[in-house]
Amino acid sequence: MSDPTPTTTVDKYAWSAIARALPSKRAAGERVGDFDEIYASYDEAAVRAQASRCIQCPHPLCMQGCPLSNRIPEWLALAAQGQFLEAAAISRSTSNMPEICSRVCPQEKLCEGACILNARTQPVAIGAVERFINDYAFAHHAVEITQAPPNGFRVAIVGSGPGGISCADELAQRGYDVTVFESLLIPGGLLVNGIPGFKLEKDIVARRIDLLAKRGVKFQLGVKVGWDVTCAHLRREFDAVFLGVGAQRAKPLDVPGSELTGVVDSIPFLIQKNVVSPLVDLPPVDVVGKRVAVLGGGDTAMDCLRTALRSGAREAVCLYRRDLANMPGSKKEYANAIEEGATFEFLTNPISLVGNAQGAVTEVRCVRMELGAADASGRRKPRPVPGSEFTVPTDVVLVAYGFDPVPFPPGSDLAMLATDEWGALKVDANQMTSEAGIFAGGDASRGASLVVHAVRDARKAAEGIDRYLHVAKSTQPAS
Ligand SMILES: Cc1cc2nc3c(=O)[nH]c(=O)nc-3n(C[C@H](O)[C@H](O)[C@H](O)COP(=O)(O)OP(=O)(O)OC[C@H]3O[C@@H](n4cnc5c(N)ncnc54)[C@H](O)[C@@H]3O)c2cc1C
Ligand code: SF4
Repeated sequence: MSDPTPTTTVDKYAWSAIARALPSKRAAGERVGDFDEIYASYDEAAVRAQASRCIQCPHPLCMQGCPLSNRIPEWLALAAQGQFLEAAAISRSTSNMPEICSRVCPQEKLCEGACILNARTQPVAIGAVERFINDYAFAHHAVEITQAPPNGFRVAIVGSGPGGISCADELAQRGYDVTVFESLLIPGGLLVNGIPGFKLEKDIVARRIDLLAKRGVKFQLGVKVGWDVTCAHLRREFDAVFLGVGAQRAKPLDVPGSELTGVVDSIPFLIQKNVVSPLVDLPPVDVVGKRVAVLGGGDTAMDCLRTALRSGAREAVCLYRRDLANMPGSKKEYANAIEEGATFEFLTNPISLVGNAQGAVTEVRCVRMELGAADASGRRKPRPVPGSEFTVPTDVVLVAYGFDPVPFPPGSDLAMLATDEWGALKVDANQMTSEAGIFAGGDASRGASLVVHAVRDARKAAEGIDRYLHVAKSTQPAS
């Protein structure tokens, strides 16, 4: 790391003297031995030096790159001057979980990707500074837990992922009486039951949930809305409902042999390896000494590779149909996976799985792909290269092809809500669904996406609920 001399005033040219430096990472050989986070924290001098690289541009592109429009230059300036608590307070004013987003956001595609310094050198290490100041605030007991005076309205939140808990937090801070209904026994959604501990330790999520409980939010765990209770019931008990039910229906592996033993969906595998709790009751997936093939190229695929290696796999290979440049997974996590021993077969598409006499998978038959013209999304469409079939020997196949929303049971009052062709709930500009008083956000309304997008939708939904209920109240005839 370059000389981390602290600055006391904003030096617009600090970036030319101080190189970007992320906090140090544990050695790959050490970190594959556990599920703890891989990055250390900055020390105070280093965070001040890194924050001082911000040139305080008048129209900050980083804020446009951040889905929450976080007030990044303001907290960078304060952090550069060592005012970490003040910086964290500003960071909390636009985000309900900055200590989490800073750990899991793909910054290279968001705030840091937009930083103006990219034109000359490397961007400000925005995510790492955001993480430091918020961890600092927690360590100094400087995160408010006060309860707002009640405003008389009750809201039901369905789902306790980042969408659900951000909406609950926003509303509780405005005086709403909020109850979160969660179908699982461990709250947190994919923050716990998806994203592995080496990216986001479970304690950090538990601390956020605990903070919500201290702010007065109630949790009803093990209740599956649409199955165990109807929406009509919630409408009777509550003034509004927010659906943050995510999109956790795995896209199927549609090739011959997908029913063989040893072919496993990504989320049950990640939960089984990452969540150590008597509340998790899933069949064990043994990868010790085995060859693991991961199908897909997103964040989930990177997490499966790294989890397999931590769980004792002999090798973990990713089979992905496009090339590295067109892979959706974060490049930071790709680099981390490579360091930890994962290998990648790009431009490779599975066409069938082959098994032994016992019905266990033994190999993946693949075909090489080439990239054709760009499709509607702007990404180049892969097509098979004739005669290029080859085989990848394997003992376990982890399927990470992405997710769609889980449909509500046919006939339930929630199945009546309007959805798009993928099953995502349709919402208006206030995040309200086709049913007045029922709002939605996060993966449930936009399809599988990012934590920070769920937080953004939830904040918008909370504003929408606030407006909706206060308009409803002001138009009620006086009794
Ligand atoms: C393996 C993996 C890794 C990822 N890594 C990253 C990453 O590094 N960075 C990033 O930004 N994003 C990442 N994502 C995406 C991110 O986790 C999601 O976009 C985000 O969690 C969506 O939040 P949500 O609140 O909409 O839904 P979820 O987090 O899915 O939460 C939905 C919750 O609703 C509950 N629920 C569902 N139906 C009901 C019901 N009927 N009644 C009651 N409760 C219900 C579920 O049990 C769940 O707890 C990853 C996703 C996966 C799968
Ligand atoms: S929330 Fe994500 S995109 Fe926004 S500043 Fe933090 S790390 Fe960057």
